[in-house]
Amino acid sequence: MVLGHSGFRFQNWAQTYGSQPELYFQPTSAEEVKEILDLARQRSKRVKVVGGGHSPSDIACTDDFMIDMNKMNKILKVDKEKKQVTVEAGILIVDLNEELTKCGLALSNLGAVSEVAAAGVIGTGTHNTGIQHGILSTQVVALTMMTAAGEMLECSESSNADLFQAARLHLGSLGVILTVTIQCVSHSTFRRSSSHQPLKEVLDNLDTHLKSSEYFRFLWFPHTENVSILYHDPTDKPLSSNANWFWDYAIGYYLLEFLLWISTFLPRLVPWINKFFFWVLYTGRTERVDISHKVFNFECRFRQHVQDWAIPIDKTKEALLELKAWLEKTPNVVAHFPVEVRFAQADNILLSPCFHRDSCYINILMHRPYGKDVPFQEYWLQYEGIMKKAGGRPHWAKAHTCTRKDFEVMYPGFQKFCFIRENLDPTGMFLNPYLEKVFY
Ligand SMILES: Cc1cc2nc3c(=O)[nH]c(=O)nc-3n(C[C@H](O)[C@H](O)[C@H](O)COP(=O)(O)OP(=O)(O)OC[C@H]3O[C@@H](n4cnc5c(N)ncnc54)[C@H](O)[C@@H]3O)c2cc1C
Repeated sequence: MVLGHSGFRFQNWAQTYGSQPELYFQPTSAEEVKEILDLARQRSKRVKVVGGGHSPSDIACTDDFMIDMNKMNKILKVDKEKKQVTVEAGILIVDLNEELTKCGLALSNLGAVSEVAAAGVIGTGTHNTGIQHGILSTQVVALTMMTAAGEMLECSESSNADLFQAARLHLGSLGVILTVTIQCVSHSTFRRSSSHQPLKEVLDNLDTHLKSSEYFRFLWFPHTENVSILYHDPTDKPLSSNANWFWDYAIGYYLLEFLLWISTFLPRLVPWINKFFFWVLYTGRTERVDISHKVFNFECRFRQHVQDWAIPIDKTKEALLELKAWLEKTPNVVAHFPVEVRFAQADNILLSPCFHRDSCYINILMHRPYGKDVPFQEYWLQYEGIMKKAGGRPHWAKAHTCTRKDFEVMYPGFQKFCFIRENLDPTGMFLNPYLEKVFY
């Protein structure tokens, strides 16, 4: 019999949202998950499953039952011939990366951090960059889940295909994901090189950059023209970690946090901070060679507020220049660096921000130095307005003010997803306040 604990306090990674579940469970098997769902049904409780708890919104919060999948974290099968791995849904990607490396395999794309769970990253449509690559959900070839009724379902392109189209980006709203099968690639070494150009030049040459590197992205430093262009590509070159003393030994982090804290009293410092850090971080060093996941991942030490919308790729220039122009004529609003611009391939996943279109993600953030909140609402609203005008769709894990009305317009497959969800979970067992805003 699996026991639930009371008194557990859940907080997301950024410590921006939290909740106190009535009972907190850490099941170790599908049978135990079923017991929890049976109990929830008997007591008319809602259930929220949590993976790595990294979502910067309240999507993983609940006051009822919380299921933490951190003890369902095993690798179940590695098929070296097909280059596929089947894992329990709670495995952290950081652990999966290590094991895959030992088998000569790797994930073809990763987000910026790996302390996130296999079912968590596909829960919100985690992405990175590379126009020949989809969001991480596109790497999933099959999954199993338990529904609110305690029934086990399997889905893939060839079985329960409609459910598969929905479950690869599930929002935690369809059931408890138990296992995930992921298509991997051969393990390889990657080269990251950086260069810099003014924003307008980068935007004028987007196509060339997209063709020049498999995993092209760029960082714009607001209040300046400065852009750091980052290319990631497989290479045969020997590993060269090429440490950046300023950043890798944390000196840069401490200095940045201190300066950002000072700037909460003197906001006019922000443009200078952005200029200074661009100069120190990105005008000198140009190359690093490492194993693939070390090149994709970034050690993120700052708690932050963040928004990240996907817009049609041909709107990239117009949207970014509009944001820049607005910041220039609104000097009382300051924007922290970087604005990160990434690209992802179109897919057919019902709630994917890249559904049926190649997309550009524009990620804006405001750091919270020493946990202190900074004003961001005006910047947020303006950015959202620009993204909406460009036909954008918000990242499901990050801040946005959208509701069902917006999603019905944004997603051609929204009604289909709702139909599938309502059939699987007619009483709304897996809903929480975040999901109510999405579905009602
Ligand atoms: C520092 C940092 C860097 C980030 N970088 C990126 C990035 O580069 N790109 C990007 O796109 N995003 C990024 N994110 C966002 C992050 O990838 C997503 O929030 C992701 O969903 C987090 O995974 P998680 O395991 O922590 O999920 P959680 O936050 O724990 O859960 C997310 C959703 O999945 C559901 N869920 C989790 N497990 C299950 C399960 N087994 N069954 C059913 N539902 C489940 C939850 O209920 C919830 O709805 C970043 C976040 C942080 C804090």
